[in-house]
Amino acid sequence: MGQDSSFTAQKRGAGGLPTSTTGTSANGRAGRAYGSLPRGRQIQKTFNNIKITILCGFVTILVLRGTIGVGNLGNSEADAINQNIIEETNRILAEIRSDSDPNDPDELTQTEINPNITYTLGPKIANWDKERKAWLQSNPEFPSLVNGKPRVLLVTGSPPKPCDNPIGDHYLLKVIKNKIDYCRLHGIEIVYNLAHLDKELAGYWAKLPLIRRLMLSHPEVEWIWWMDSDALFTDMVFELPLSKYNSHNLVIHGYPDLLFEQKSWIALNTGSFLFRNCQWSLDLLDAWAPMGPKGPIREEAGKILTANLKGRPAFEADDQSALIYLLLSQKDQWMDKVYVENSYYLHGYWAGLVDRYEEMIEKYHPGLGDERWPFVTHFVGCKPCGSYGDYPVERCLGSMERAFNFADNQVLKLYGFRHRGLLSPKIKRIRNETATPLESVDQFDIRRHLVHGDSGSHS
Ligand code: UDP
Ligand code: MN
Repeated sequence: MGQDSSFTAQKRGAGGLPTSTTGTSANGRAGRAYGSLPRGRQIQKTFNNIKITILCGFVTILVLRGTIGVGNLGNSEADAINQNIIEETNRILAEIRSDSDPNDPDELTQTEINPNITYTLGPKIANWDKERKAWLQSNPEFPSLVNGKPRVLLVTGSPPKPCDNPIGDHYLLKVIKNKIDYCRLHGIEIVYNLAHLDKELAGYWAKLPLIRRLMLSHPEVEWIWWMDSDALFTDMVFELPLSKYNSHNLVIHGYPDLLFEQKSWIALNTGSFLFRNCQWSLDLLDAWAPMGPKGPIREEAGKILTANLKGRPAFEADDQSALIYLLLSQKDQWMDKVYVENSYYLHGYWAGLVDRYEEMIEKYHPGLGDERWPFVTHFVGCKPCGSYGDYPVERCLGSMERAFNFADNQVLKLYGFRHRGLLSPKIKRIRNETATPLESVDQFDIRRHLVHGDSGSHS
């Protein structure tokens, strides 16, 4: 995030220089150079113009040869050019993927991990509710309620490096497009993170320090909503029934019986959940983080989780199992502020949903959010950006394509289009163009289909 802003600043700096040829140039000298000139200079200038014209012609021929003429080159020459591009791309990818940067002095100072000291996310904050309240009072230009609704910040992200397979990056793009569309239509702010804020908490643990940082940096935000990069909105109309959670601080999809009776490792899903910006949430994050540091701590903690949670395979500690284990072992301390939601799909497991879209389209309509028209579809176990998923890669990619297009049709409908099929990136027109577009604009705006108040709690 810090990198992003410095990059933007750099670009702005370069682009912001005055470039006008008629006004004053950047170094202050007058740029108005061509008035009436003496005859000798005039000839010199004409000669210069001819030279420039010839040069331009030469460059044009080169460019044309480069763009349309490669096929006419000898095959071996074209192959050599292609080979060069491939090698250069691979070199850049290898550079981005490599962990070490010899020019970074911080690389040399490895943080020592002492297993006797419990890992913390940062200095203990004890007074957040009071401090946040005072801040909100003295910054009325940043209200935590906007149009009577609590301010929500959707947070998502993906690894800092390119995906193992380029198609993974394409799906990251599609899924962030889907989230931007939903957030734009529903007045939700959005953050995309590519950094590991804390080196110890890489991978699926990266969301913890990020959520904490965003809470502290955005006191105006009431709810922080984490959503995985492999989770899509598939109901573009449904809205969170936030007033239902007035006396809760964590909202997460799951099933209480799977949690407390079965102690199942899939009782809750940490692919889509909301934290209220408050002291309680900071405390929960502190209690959740200690199993996260990569290396021996995460490995050892994984053994405890596998021994205690039903169905959990043997592997290092993951954020989801750690949260379930924490809530099970300290139930009295936390559970009265945790809302375990299953009346709609805050997280919906993809495998049971993606093959039913045709049936849903035939029988139901967006806005329901549950099994009839799932709010969120999460591609758990697909790892589109990594190499080793639990499902065949073709099945995952085909299903993600269907989910994306199913959702995108709901957006395109606003503009008079839809995909040709659920597997097709091509679109077709569904309404004729009109000379009086405003007459029907409300009819197609999905925001108008919302039941006022808490749309999410209806039927
Ligand atoms: N993630 C991240 N940075 C990383 C690795 C993962 O932000 O370096 C996020 C990403 O959004 C990803 C989520 O962590 O979707 C959890 O991982 P994943 O979805 O692969 O786990 P699954 O849902 O399959 O259990
Ligand atoms: Mn996921």
